[in-house]
Amino acid sequence: MADLYWITFLVVLFCLVGTFDASAGDADPLYRACFDQCKKTGCAGETCFLHCKIPLDASSSDDNWYLKEPLYLWLKQANCQSDCQYHCMLQREKDRATHGFGPVKYHGKWPFKRVFGLQEPVSVAFSVLNLAMHFHGWLSFFMLIYYKLRSKGDEKTCYNYTCLWHIYAFLSMNSWLWSAVFHSRDMDFTEKLDYSSAVALLGFSLIISILRSFSVKNEAARVLVAAPLLAFTVTHILYLNNYQMDYGWNMKVCVVIAVSQLLIWAIWAGISRHPSRWKLWAVVVGGGLAMLLEIYDFPPYQGLVDAHALWHATTIPLTYIWWSFIKDDAKFGTSNLSKKVK
Ligand SMILES: [Zn+2]
Repeated sequence: MADLYWITFLVVLFCLVGTFDASAGDADPLYRACFDQCKKTGCAGETCFLHCKIPLDASSSDDNWYLKEPLYLWLKQANCQSDCQYHCMLQREKDRATHGFGPVKYHGKWPFKRVFGLQEPVSVAFSVLNLAMHFHGWLSFFMLIYYKLRSKGDEKTCYNYTCLWHIYAFLSMNSWLWSAVFHSRDMDFTEKLDYSSAVALLGFSLIISILRSFSVKNEAARVLVAAPLLAFTVTHILYLNNYQMDYGWNMKVCVVIAVSQLLIWAIWAGISRHPSRWKLWAVVVGGGLAMLLEIYDFPPYQGLVDAHALWHATTIPLTYIWWSFIKDDAKFGTSNLSKKVK
């Protein structure tokens, strides 16, 4: 049975890895020409941006000290770049549509309509809801561990994975926070923060799935499992931030890590007879189906709702079930240990 799982796992991975492609929109020479021109002149076609005009004559801004501050100038330039990208993209898409071509991706993203200055308003809203769901889940886990499961006079509960779930909660909330920021405004640093925190969360989730499913309780064994995975995760984050933001390669790494942990949980749910295994299956099946949205993504409907936004929507109920499983596992682990003690 386990062999079958591994064969399916490898086949699925092989198929998924073959389907990725880099962004076609920003490789388009007409888009590039518009973008380069806009950075120099501050105008994309007929639309011009005030913040693209950095005063050459410093004496004119003597009264306002902040106009010469490096942070201000940098923000101004970043805003200029973002607006140039947006308007060049709109123009290219308009052109493409008149010639009967469908939308293409720019810098890893579909062309979206901005609402209240937010680049992807629907994804922002769902990211915030995911963040809230993780906070709610973590808070109720915290209450359970420290108020309900703690035996009288005892400093600690018997559940062995408390600390790991606290770190997981922190990484999840951090990841959704930067996801909301990145979907609000796509800039070099918001993109790096979002991608890095998502990779950190994925890497840590894989570690936790191995430690929990193999019931690794010994500290030395935990370090032995976690060290190579942590090293890989950190190296990948450093690679994305300091060497090259390679979307295709990052997608492959993320899919491999995500599919691996879904399979680990699924196999464990089948073997362990955990009382709440149906919740695990719900998350694994739901998470797997949701991942299809991320992989076979489609352009945004009305320039607003794309596959990625829907993917963020599906993770909201899955997060609720997931934290419910974690709480059940804490109760299950504590009751098992107290039976052993008796
Ligand atoms: Zn996202």
